[in-house]
Amino acid sequence: MPYYADDKRYEQMIYNRCGKSGIKLPAISLGLWQNFGGDKPFENSRAMITTAFDLGITHFDLANNYGPPAGSAEETFGQVMKKDLRPYRDELLITTKAGYYMWPGPYGEWGSRKNLLSSLDQSLMRMGLDYVDIFYHHRPDPDTPLEESMGALAQAVKAGKALYVGLSNYGPEDTKRAAEILKQLGTPLLVHQPNYSMLNRWIEQGLQEVLREEGAGSVAFCPLGRGQLTNKYVRKLEEESESKARSLKPEAVTAERIGKFRKLEAIAERRGQSLAQMALTWALRDGGVTSVIIGASRVSQIEENAAAVHQPPLTAEELREIDDVMRG
Ligand code: NDP
Repeated sequence: MPYYADDKRYEQMIYNRCGKSGIKLPAISLGLWQNFGGDKPFENSRAMITTAFDLGITHFDLANNYGPPAGSAEETFGQVMKKDLRPYRDELLITTKAGYYMWPGPYGEWGSRKNLLSSLDQSLMRMGLDYVDIFYHHRPDPDTPLEESMGALAQAVKAGKALYVGLSNYGPEDTKRAAEILKQLGTPLLVHQPNYSMLNRWIEQGLQEVLREEGAGSVAFCPLGRGQLTNKYVRKLEEESESKARSLKPEAVTAERIGKFRKLEAIAERRGQSLAQMALTWALRDGGVTSVIIGASRVSQIEENAAAVHQPPLTAEELREIDDVMRG
């Protein structure tokens, strides 16, 4: 069956400006980390990607190593581009990253110019694209000079293989220095991609301020705490032995923690939201985060999560209540 995108797709999503750039990102983006690899049924991956686009999700987040096996999420995305999304290429923001282990030997990971530019070429090949919209350095490299890694990002843009550049997992000081170097190279930092959710608020200690100063946006990964902030997870904890649930460290799964999630669920229920939806409303609450990148294993999760953008903001009282639960 040929795919035709929903005519109403742009009525369903909210778009936020990414820092001080000209680019707008959908409030909800889709990440292809673990559920789109070669080990998963292609038709389900395809349905999730096209459903996301039908819901106005224009931003798809990938990396060289997403799968499993590594590289296969990009191949899946490439197949969906070829079959369904090719006519819509200019409506899509497609990202990839390099920095984590991808191939053996001294050039297969971290932040050398050799690693970053070779990896980008491989990613473009796997996705069947001429360029990506955002190319990220996936993690800071303690051994490579920042000038070299940032120079490689800027070179990707000069070569027409990326339109914008981003950083992921960089702390505030390194982000500041990297942004200065990128500015000198004429390729401003578009966006930072940090871990951020009710369970992990590290970016509030300095990074958000740096990004504001630099005029860069931020897209939050794991906004559902890898699925912990969902009704399904609470049920699963109740039903299953603790250590099996999403292979978390056993100490992460305690009766106290389950109690917290139940309290959060009760607040969400009162608001007429699911816990997943409330976690997304929370992450997007004050405009500090441009977009949240959700993961999903089925179409219905994407539909449920995308609906969060039309739900009412959290009141000051509800925010206080959530803080109390998380601190308690
Ligand atoms: P989330 O915190 O959004 O967790 C996603 C998981 O939550 C899904 O796989 C699913 O679990 C569950 N879920 C989602 N929606 C629902 C729902 N409505 N009801 C019940 N369960 C739900 O994010 P991820 O950890 O998957 O990360 C998201 C993306 O962030 C990645 O794909 C990637 O693009 C990016 N990322 C970037 C990193 C970086 O270093 N830059 C690191 C990690 C992620 P299940 O599969 O069990 O159904």
